Amino acid sequence: MQTLIACHDCDLIQRLPRMSEPGTVQCTRCGAVLHQKKRNSIERTLSLTLAGLVLFGLANSFPFLAFKLEAQVRQTTLLTGIQELYAQGMPELSLIVLLTTVLVPLAQMISMLYILLPLKLKKIPIGLPAVFRFVHKLQPWSMMEVFMVGILVSVVKLAKMAKIVPGVALFSFLALIFVLAAMSASLDSHLIWEKWENRR
Ligand SMILES: [Zn+2]
Repeated sequence: MQTLIACHDCDLIQRLPRMSEPGTVQCTRCGAVLHQKKRNSIERTLSLTLAGLVLFGLANSFPFLAFKLEAQVRQTTLLTGIQELYAQGMPELSLIVLLTTVLVPLAQMISMLYILLPLKLKKIPIGLPAVFRFVHKLQPWSMMEVFMVGILVSVVKLAKMAKIVPGVALFSFLALIFVLAAMSASLDSHLIWEKWENRR
């Protein structure tokens, strides 16, 4: 049975041709991209997820920034920064930072791993639809790039007062933003649903 698909832009229902090679299918009426078949989508997304988890580990275990003021050196990590916000009487803000820069990206990567690793091993994970929908729901709550802009602004402002030394975690965090973007871009949602549909 051929899959019917509604165009995201103009709502025209049309048949999706079977694709064996990577490429795109366009809407016959408005030209919008209906489906994009990506090369080795599962393998690529899985390897980017694993790379992301390694970078996440580095970003959370090494110093983020070090401030040098005369003989004093103060190092901060992502988590001590969040604790500091809490200690300075900003519990709501510390919770938001914890959610958007630590918990949500971690939940995204773990969920992707839960889906992709079994699929790679030709198995279907239990509860795939719920987990996959959860991944999509998390997307708007991952705001690492917003946090990064905030860091850059404060670094520029503080640079006049103290010497600022970027740490391993800062570079890992920066790389993680790109890896997570690549992870989303290489994911082929149609393929995941197809696997679920043909699970028996
Ligand atoms: Zn259309």
